[in-house]
Parts: sequence; C-alpha cells; structure tokens
Amino acid sequence: MSFTLAIVGRPNVGKSTLFNRLVGKRLALVDDQPGVTRDLREGDARLGDLRFTVIDTAGLEEATDESLQGRMRRLTERAVEMADVCLFMIDARAGVLAADQVFAEILRKKNAHVIVAANKAEGKAGEAGVLEAYALGLGEPLAISSEHGEGFEDLYTTLLPLSDEFAEREKDLTPETDVDVSEDDDEAEGKSRDFSKGKPLQIAVVGRPNAGKSTLINQLLGEERLLTGPEAGITRDAISLRFKWGDTPVRMFDTAGMRKKAKIQDKLEKLSVSDGLRAVKFAEVVVVLLDAEIPFEQQDLRIADLAEREGRAVVVAVNKWDIEENKQEKLRDLKEAFTRLLPQLRGAPLITVSAKTGRGLERLREAVLEAHETWNRRVTTAQLNRWLSGMLEAHPPPAPGGKRIKLRYMTQAKTRPPGFVVMCSHPEKMPESYSRYLVNGLRESFNMPGTPIRLYVRSQS
Ligand code: GDP
Ligand code: GDP
Repeated sequence: MSFTLAIVGRPNVGKSTLFNRLVGKRLALVDDQPGVTRDLREGDARLGDLRFTVIDTAGLEEATDESLQGRMRRLTERAVEMADVCLFMIDARAGVLAADQVFAEILRKKNAHVIVAANKAEGKAGEAGVLEAYALGLGEPLAISSEHGEGFEDLYTTLLPLSDEFAEREKDLTPETDVDVSEDDDEAEGKSRDFSKGKPLQIAVVGRPNAGKSTLINQLLGEERLLTGPEAGITRDAISLRFKWGDTPVRMFDTAGMRKKAKIQDKLEKLSVSDGLRAVKFAEVVVVLLDAEIPFEQQDLRIADLAEREGRAVVVAVNKWDIEENKQEKLRDLKEAFTRLLPQLRGAPLITVSAKTGRGLERLREAVLEAHETWNRRVTTAQLNRWLSGMLEAHPPPAPGGKRIKLRYMTQAKTRPPGFVVMCSHPEKMPESYSRYLVNGLRESFNMPGTPIRLYVRSQS
C-alpha cells in the first residue's frame, strides 16, 4: 500500500476531472459505511510509476436537507482525516475566491499536508490565478490542467518524494521492523495506523562513533523505565525506537544500534554518509551529538551541514559534560567554534549534556520540542508584508544599472522548514547579500532560530 491523496476544493474547480484522469476506470470498491465513505469516491490512481489511492470529494449528487456548504465542509473534513496528503484545487481562471478560503481554513485547522493546484491553467488565462494561489500560504502552487493533462510532470515530481516517504514509514511501522517500547499498546497501535494525527516526533541522534549515542538512548529509555530493547528482526535500514520522552511520543532513529546490530563493531569506522543521510531523511529534528573532548570534527560538520541542506531542524548537544573541568571557558569556546564553523545553523541551540548521568537531558528535550515547533511555524501574510515594508525602508534593495529592484509582496509558501516566496521585479538581479539580509531578518523578527529558512525569489510580471 502506498499513500492516500484527497482532492479537495470548492465545486466546479475540476476535482472530478482530475480524479477521472488519475483513476481511469480503476474505481475501487467503496466501503459501505454509513455516512463516511459513501459520499466519497475512492479509486486506485496511477501517475507514471506511482500508485496511490485517491479520494474525490465532489460527491454531491445525493439530495439531503443539509446545505451545500455544510455538506461540502463535512465531506472535506472526512477526506482530510482519511488522507495522508491533500491536493487543494482552485480554479486558476477564477482566481482565489472567498469560498476557496473556507477550504484553506479547514486544511490549516486540520494541519493537513497540502499540495495547492491551480487547475484550468492551460493557456494564458490562468496565469494570474496561479500567482494568487501563493497567497493562500499553503505552499507553492502547481499549475495544472486536468482537462488537457498539463502540469502532470510537476504533480508527479511533487508526489514522488512523498511516495518514498510513506513507503519508508510503512516499512518502519510493520511489527518486524519497529520496536514498540511504549507501555500503552492500544495507543501505539492507533499511532501505527495513522500518520497524520498524534504522530510521534521523529528524531535522529547522529554523531561520530563514541560520541555517546547509545548511552544517550539507553539513558532516555531507562528514565522512562521502558525495558524492552531492540529485538531480532530489525532490519538494517529501518531502526527506530518508539517511546515517550517525558510527555512527548517520539520515534528515534538509532544509528548506533543499527551499527552494533550489524556487527560492525569497529568504533573507529566512520559513520558512513549513507547512514547519516538515512537518519537525516527520517528525522524532523536532528540532534547532532558532539563529544566535548573532540567537538566539531570534520564528520560532525558534514552531518550538521547535511541536516541543514535537507531542511531539518537541528539541535546541537555537547556530550560528556560531566568530565569537563573548566565548564565556563569551554562553553565559550564551543559557542565561538559553532558560530564560526556552522554559520548556516545560526541560532541553533547548543545544549550541554551528560548521557551517562542524565544531566541536561530535560533541557535537550525542551530544545528539541522548540526546534520542532519553529520548524512548523507559520507567519501570516499580513504580518510578513508589514515586516517587509519595514525591512525595505531600513535598507532598500539595490538598483543595478540605476533601476531599483522592487519587492512587492511576500507570503509563506511552506513549513517544515519555513519557506517564503517574495515577488520581485527582477529576481535574477537580486543579490545574494540581500536575500541573506531578508532571511536573517525573518529569523530574528519571527523568532525562528536554528531552523533552515528557505527564500524563493519569484518574478511578478
Ligand atoms: P468539480 O465540481 O470540482 O468536481 O469539477 P468538475 O471536474 O466537474 O469540473 C467542472 C468544470 O470545469 C467542467 O465543466 C470541466 O470540464 C471543467 N474543467 C475541469 N478541468 C479543467 C481544465 O483543466 N481546464 C478547463 N478549461 N476546464 C476544466
Ligand atoms: P556511540 O558510539 O555514539 O553509541 O557511543 P557510546 O554510547 O557507545 O559511548 C562511547 C563511550 O563514551 C562509552 O565508553 C561511554 O561510556 C562513554 N560515554 C557516553 N556518554 C558519556 C557521558 O555523558 N559522560 C562520560 N564520561 N562518558 C560517556
């Protein structure tokens, strides 16, 4: 099984047309559950080599007493709950209407994973509508034409990583590969079936061999008095431990355990790039664990940089703090080295811990939660544009060749990590230094330390 995509949006935007194109004649048998799936059409979709389930919310034929709007809302909420990903469709020719905002609101409230598609975008008539769709603040819109089959490559490219991600997760969540060390079985089962709600926080602890990763994980498990450890059947490419860290359900990617399990005991062996990459891809928050004695080694820097480039939230933890004698001076040196060696992670928390004694682990937990929260943060378009005009005034953009670059409008296109689109008169002329000024400003003004921030400069004609 792969993932489930729900097509949502107001009537007449073209949902059924897309559904029919994706499904062809492969309509699935729909469960006859009263009130739930009866109104929703479900089908087996194909897009290139992708296979997934698609849900259409356009089932409005049945007459009921309920108002059209109420019914649409209820259907949409159902579909969102059933789906892993929502394709939110607007009509590019009509632009963004008030009725579309209702759906945007539902998606936001449900914290859904959203792909915005501006349909009917064939020809010129849809161009403005596609741009308007940025303003929904739900991500970079895809321009498609369901009727003419245009823009499907982009849809494919957008769905491809999701497909991989969900395949990975399913592999992870099968009983043979996942060690469930939580005490509440029912709860855990519920979680393994449902990726979207009450989803555990995915954390990877990465660092050089001997940094103390195993000790850290054992300490966390010990603290929670969870006695089960890794068991047979764990495959090398999907080792995660699930447990509660304080009140927080987490799934932790255990590179150390993986290595030990694989009987590669050579502690001097370098953490291979592929292990690191896998851990980073798994994680929402990456904890880079350093050995206080030998911090910021080449390998540590590489993995921290990888985490940033992959857009993960990063927390740096300096381990073995218990044996450090001159703590104050050492901390100053560490901070200085951090700023110098990892400027791309500016503002990321640096926490001193002792995996052995458990000291500092509560602070580490708080830092992880905060980093995750920041990584998911959304800034409203109104706030952003008020902020932007202040930034422009304080430091106007350059005027290459005497023509000033005009920045017109900014909106947050995505979260996890936060990504922003700025509409600009000559994007190709915008210097890197000005982008950096904006990114650093965003970080400071909206309190987003330690999370990668993406800025997309787009032209507005
Ligand atoms: P739904 O109510 O959202 O399911 O919308 P439908 O799929 O029934 O489509 C509504 C209308 O839009 C129909 O007349 C479709 O033929 C038309 N339509 C759908 N997709 C496109 C498209 O890509 N381009 C154009 N021009 N019309 C489309
Ligand atoms: P891994 O290879 O990253 O999993 O590292 P381990 O957890 O196996 O730890 C490597 C060595 O460092 C072991 O001898 C641990 O006992 C030691 N160690 C780990 N954490 C601490 C700590 O907080 N303080 C001290 N003093 N030693 C630690």
